[in-house]
Amino acid sequence: MPTPSAQPIFSYIVDCRNPGTHVYHLTLTIVGLTSGQHILALPVWTPGAYEVRDFAAHVFDLRLAAGPVPLPAHHQSKNQWIFETTADMAEVTVQYQVYAFQLGVASSHLDQSHAYFNGAQLFFLVDDYRDAAWDVVIQAPPEWRVATGLEPVANHPYHYRAADYDILIDSPVEIGTHRAYTFMVDHKRHEIAIWGHGNEDPDVLVADTEAIVKAQRDLFGGLPYDHYTFILHLSDRATGGLEHLNSTTCGTERFAYRPRKNYRHVLQLIAHEFFHLWNVKRIHPDMLGPFDYQREVYTRLLWAMEGFTDYFGDLSLLYAKRFSPQEYLDTLADRIRRYERLPGRLVQSLSESSFDTWIKLYKPDSDSPNRTISYYLKGDLIGMCLDLAIRQHTANQGSLAEVLRRLYDRYGSRGIGFPESVYQETVEEVAGCSFADFFRRYIDGTDPVPFETFLNHAGLTVERTYKNPAAEDNNGDLGQRTQDAPLPWLGIDTEVKNGHQPTVKVSYANGPSVDKINPGDRLLALNGYEIATEAGLDERIRLNHTIGEVVEVTFFRRGQLGSAAIRLGTAPPDTVKIVPVKDASEAQQSCYQAWLRADWQAAASSAK
Ligand SMILES: [Zn+2]
Repeated sequence: MPTPSAQPIFSYIVDCRNPGTHVYHLTLTIVGLTSGQHILALPVWTPGAYEVRDFAAHVFDLRLAAGPVPLPAHHQSKNQWIFETTADMAEVTVQYQVYAFQLGVASSHLDQSHAYFNGAQLFFLVDDYRDAAWDVVIQAPPEWRVATGLEPVANHPYHYRAADYDILIDSPVEIGTHRAYTFMVDHKRHEIAIWGHGNEDPDVLVADTEAIVKAQRDLFGGLPYDHYTFILHLSDRATGGLEHLNSTTCGTERFAYRPRKNYRHVLQLIAHEFFHLWNVKRIHPDMLGPFDYQREVYTRLLWAMEGFTDYFGDLSLLYAKRFSPQEYLDTLADRIRRYERLPGRLVQSLSESSFDTWIKLYKPDSDSPNRTISYYLKGDLIGMCLDLAIRQHTANQGSLAEVLRRLYDRYGSRGIGFPESVYQETVEEVAGCSFADFFRRYIDGTDPVPFETFLNHAGLTVERTYKNPAAEDNNGDLGQRTQDAPLPWLGIDTEVKNGHQPTVKVSYANGPSVDKINPGDRLLALNGYEIATEAGLDERIRLNHTIGEVVEVTFFRRGQLGSAAIRLGTAPPDTVKIVPVKDASEAQQSCYQAWLRADWQAAASSAK
């Protein structure tokens, strides 16, 4: 019998032997609980996905027993149960079932083909025993294997141990007949486990993933884990990625691995999620670990956690020679285009976007482009601006990577979070000057970001153009309609569903239709003539109308015919390019070369 002061011993059995029911059977055995009242609490969210999802909704048939004797449990709140033990109860078991039929990297899924789960959906925390070790034994159909970041116990293929509850929650588990590929970096085992079938080339995927691992390792000077697991889900839709301490799950479309223009998005996803093992999993503000799983946790720094992860993810693809410099700059340029189209960039700051992620980014509505800005999208671009500004101030001796390395050395490598103010302080320390103005304007404020100013440090500038359908005309007579001339715009985005006419998705706050055409309106006609497809509408307006001209738009609104006269506005640029400036100085050229690790002359000559 353990002494009352010893940690109790917690062991879970996860039974997925009847996968067609989509129900996991869980048994938690607790040995050595002190007598008194205890709480079973299931998380309401899972780290990395900042959304309260109330996983307890899928729990049913919860029963407790002390030995053979049933033990009453009181369901005291949506995700908590209370029970009481006496001194003679050596062992308590908790049995329950969890319905798991949601495919997603942050969800749990069980069907005839595999079992996949995130701990937040399956595993109760008992009282506050976060620091205790948690055992997990998996009972699976014959032939099914396990892929997870958890440590196997004595090399047993179905028995794992998490050193504490946070690791238990942070280690998703894939069980099934997935294909497994391994490679070694720094004598550490990396496994890629692929569930679902698609058009991936395993040799290429392994080589590319290994190159990403090495490029990112070089940024930090080592790999802070014993082994790493990439779980890849291939299905009919992309479900994104979720980061963990020594693993990640990435959900891609099954045919996203060819051609290369699609596959590069897969590489971006893998590079992003892998970079998270430093940025957010180890380098993070104190609110992001250890986590409070019972409620929302608030930070104003998700732009640095997510945006900079996008930034360094792409940069590592360049350093790993998976992106060419031009491809990398085109990716950044397209982000500038997307950012500049969004009226919400002038409404919500990056720090507000981060703070409000629980109610805004993860719960978008049709007005979100007008009122919010994604901390991924703007955060990535701010990463670029900060990197270039630091390089400018330090003659390339400092960089944004150096900021991350210092945060990692001082906090991340010691397993602690930092106070939020430390971020700006560390940037200023590396740059050797104040960044108060930068933070006030572009992070805590909504000033438009002058990308040209920052890119100029590296001898680059931004070029914005318009896709004029008339420019494709070979007659050569474009009149006023050159590529540089703005074009007429209705100010809406539409989508085509089930072969119907286009339905309005967004009516832009800076567009001419904002108070006349609503999201959800089904567009029927322009000036009395039928609107057939989405692409047709845009092109028709650009080819046949002018800025300032009034057009009549006819639509169905909740099944009732309506119409509106719209004075056409000016379309935002639809192509943005980052190009070299003429006659770049030596300082500009060396900034470019240090930043992109690429030859300036090649960039300058290809632009001619
Ligand atoms: Zn991320």
